[in-house]
Amino acid sequence: FVSIMQGCNMKCTFCIVPYTRGGERGRPIADIVEEVKRLADRGVKEVTLLGQIVNLYGRHEFPAEDGKSPFVQLLEAVHEVPGIQRIRFTSPHPIGYKKDLIDAFTYLPKLAEHVHLPVQSGSDAILKRMHRPYTAAKFTELVQRIRAARPDIAVTTDVIVGFPGETEEHYLETRRLFEDIRFDNAFVFRYSKRRGTPAAEMEEATQVPERVKEERNQDLLALVNSIALPMYDALVGKEVEILCEGPSKTNEARLTGRTGSNRIVVFEGSRDRHVGEIFRVRITEAANFTLFGDPVLLA
Ligand code: SF4
Repeated sequence: FVSIMQGCNMKCTFCIVPYTRGGERGRPIADIVEEVKRLADRGVKEVTLLGQIVNLYGRHEFPAEDGKSPFVQLLEAVHEVPGIQRIRFTSPHPIGYKKDLIDAFTYLPKLAEHVHLPVQSGSDAILKRMHRPYTAAKFTELVQRIRAARPDIAVTTDVIVGFPGETEEHYLETRRLFEDIRFDNAFVFRYSKRRGTPAAEMEEATQVPERVKEERNQDLLALVNSIALPMYDALVGKEVEILCEGPSKTNEARLTGRTGSNRIVVFEGSRDRHVGEIFRVRITEAANFTLFGDPVLLA
């Protein structure tokens, strides 16, 4: 993990980050590339660029060049580092996905085939109350453009249910967006007040009862699972490429790795031969957002 920026200027009404971490500050591209080179020299093959709104990196500090934002310039520079084979970034903001970044997925093959794209709500009225500057339609169109640029890409999201003022109809709009987009996975959060945020000051009458939040949470989770789990099942019998990270958290005797699309794969292997390496695994089983398989051969 390489931190590329601190802070956030977006001021989503549910979030404390702008008040605790301050405004956006990006590190110079050359510094970041030096750090990535040092990691690559130690044998690291995958880097994850970190920032609160990572794809808006440097927007107030560094100039665009040839129509490319500072973030895309950074991706291109990291892509050049010998030894680095996979590049990820998190967490992006939907409004940071301009044409230059979407295009980057077509010509930077080291960019992993996964984007985490926090939608937060599928209701325009709630997005406005959250101070998220996009609509459900714009978000859906963005996902379509990303999938057109990289057809094998996995798209995951974060969503909050029970935000103050969320009616049943607003929730159903979120549900419909999930049915339309068919995310590869989603983190579903029940809204809870965070002291010091604008949302915590919203009128008491707009607060959604805990029972309703819980029902929406369970309903949306069931929908996410019904869409995402069959995607895992569909990989049984296929080969995937993984980067082996080390022993499995649930069974030390096995190893675990991740696909470019960020799916976890557990397999029997050798720590000496496999850890830190990228290679193919034939999937034999899928269960509960985990794939199981056997290594095919070392890359
Ligand atoms: S949710 Fe993300 S974009 Fe919004 S204020 Fe917090 S850190 Fe910034």
